[in-house]
Amino acid sequence: MEQKVVLITGASRGIGAAAARRFAAGGCRVVVNYHRSREQAEALAAEIGGWAVQADVSDPVQVGKMVDNVLDKFCQLDILICNAGVAQQKLFGDLTDEDWRRIFAVNVDGVFHTIRAALPHFIHRKAGKILTVSSMWGQVGGSCEAAYSAAKAAVIGLTKALAKELGPSGITVNCVSPGVIQTDMNAHLDGETMAALAEETPLGTIGTPEDVAEAMWYLASDAARFVTGQVLAPNGGLVI
Ligand code: NAP
Repeated sequence: MEQKVVLITGASRGIGAAAARRFAAGGCRVVVNYHRSREQAEALAAEIGGWAVQADVSDPVQVGKMVDNVLDKFCQLDILICNAGVAQQKLFGDLTDEDWRRIFAVNVDGVFHTIRAALPHFIHRKAGKILTVSSMWGQVGGSCEAAYSAAKAAVIGLTKALAKELGPSGITVNCVSPGVIQTDMNAHLDGETMAALAEETPLGTIGTPEDVAEAMWYLASDAARFVTGQVLAPNGGLVI
């Protein structure tokens, strides 16, 4: 069987890195996009036989070059996972224009730039699996996370609209919406807060990056061939 090529944005750490390992274990050629964590991305790429590519997803020029480079190198792209994201905890009244723009630039514009760059290839082939990454806060809203919640809600809207638009071209677009996952993004939360969140979660635990990677693997697989426009939420039941 032909090896599938997957591009994962923000794959140097956390959920993206777990996804890179999962897709490599499943036989894919993995492109590990990173922004600042070059060493981690290159070590991961070496570990899984993948390829590390630097690009700031908020910059459309860098994203365009990255996708062109991937297509030049592999002549195909089968799966796109728009995972890169940044969060920020602040009272709504303390948010600056710059805070708001930064959260949207990475979490929303980044998804737009990446899908737009890859889409002509997917449409040409009449095939492709696109995954976006939202958050439970994009579904229910998080206190002191207004910008992040709004951005992640936008990702869900984009996913659903694109699923309708691209279905006739043989392309599926689905969203993974994680709950609380043990990554650097939650490193600011102390042990007590994490324990309280675990207790609040029906399954009684915080999620792992691998839990999210498995949901991504399913949505990108042939088993999900009839699934599009959906939000799959690995969150232990915290948001139902
Ligand atoms: P993380 O550990 O903080 O890692 C973030 C990743 O995004 C890193 O690889 C980082 O790359 C990359 N990134 C950040 N800004 C970027 C940019 N401008 N261009 C390209 N890459 C960029 O976060 P995570 O927890 O794995 O989160 C992954 C995704 O899941 C995000 O979209 C996040 O919003 C979402 N999510 C996470 C949780 C959670 O509890 N952890 C819950 C719900 C949703 P560099 O290090 O190379 O800069």
